[in-house]
Amino acid sequence: MTRERKVYMNGKFIKESDAKISIFDSALMFGDMVFEMTRSFNKKHFKLKEHIERLFTGLKILRYDLSITKEELYDICIETARQNEPAFEKDDEHRLMIDVSRGVLGIYEDIDGIHNGPNIIVADFPLKWTVKGMSKLYKSGINNVVTSQRVIPSHLMDPKIKNRSRLFYLMANIEASLFKGENNWALMLDPDGFIAEGSGDNFFIIKDGVLISPEGRNMLRGITRQYIMEELAPRLNIPVKEKNIELFDAYEADEAFICATPFCMIPVTSINSVKIGNGKPGELFKSLIKEWSSMVGIDIIKQVENWNKDSSKKSTKNKVTPYKFK
Ligand code: PLP
Repeated sequence: MTRERKVYMNGKFIKESDAKISIFDSALMFGDMVFEMTRSFNKKHFKLKEHIERLFTGLKILRYDLSITKEELYDICIETARQNEPAFEKDDEHRLMIDVSRGVLGIYEDIDGIHNGPNIIVADFPLKWTVKGMSKLYKSGINNVVTSQRVIPSHLMDPKIKNRSRLFYLMANIEASLFKGENNWALMLDPDGFIAEGSGDNFFIIKDGVLISPEGRNMLRGITRQYIMEELAPRLNIPVKEKNIELFDAYEADEAFICATPFCMIPVTSINSVKIGNGKPGELFKSLIKEWSSMVGIDIIKQVENWNKDSSKKSTKNKVTPYKFK
């Protein structure tokens, strides 16, 4: 029998199925919630401090009043994974989900039995739930579909704050999922028509040996994006540039790829069915993911392949998420 996972919630560790928030919570009323999702490699948390930094920046801008410090939250994350390890298999990785909501709105505070103040939640589930089924994408690549749904620009609601008002990302996913063919992932433009980001990932092109990212303006500035630009690429002496990217530039690129915490990097072999480069995963993509694998001591692609073989586990098939489409 699998043991039930535990969730840290407002000072206590409770059973995952008991972790609930009120219908009067500001998260439900306004999507008023900041969050982070992390991963481990070989059970070691990757860039957890950076995720917590990003979370606290969002909390500061949204004027949340939290009683815990970054260091305390870090320790809670470590403890949550430790308590959940018995419910995980040996080859599992931890996917922490840190959710912070403002709590119930003032007018509901007097309702009996309601938790007042912010909700601080740290959950933990196996990373394979998110990436299982994706192993073929490292070889086939994805087709980025440029959706009519655009990003919300930062001067209207800043996507750099990782928040749960994510309807526009979901709309882009739904739109991409209506496209014919397989492996269609949404790619969104900003209001000026420059490429911004995917619905759960950041985008890069490579041209003449230079790694190019859209400027970090109308997007979530991914921890993965930052790792690739500031650590991985320099290790391989690949020059990095941030600039406005038009669709034309992407069509003309030698390579393109997307990146995000759960799957690290996936090649973009076409955009709107137009081949990028030779339509196959590029050489620099391969070098980057190889270097990443050696840095963390895990063959990133093989690990997902191995989870793929395990057909007895939950499937997310037919669910509209950033990673699976009907
Ligand atoms: N962009 C969006 C909209 C995201 O939701 C995510 C991750 O969830 C990313 C980019 C990639 O961010 P990270 O590398 O921090 O996972």
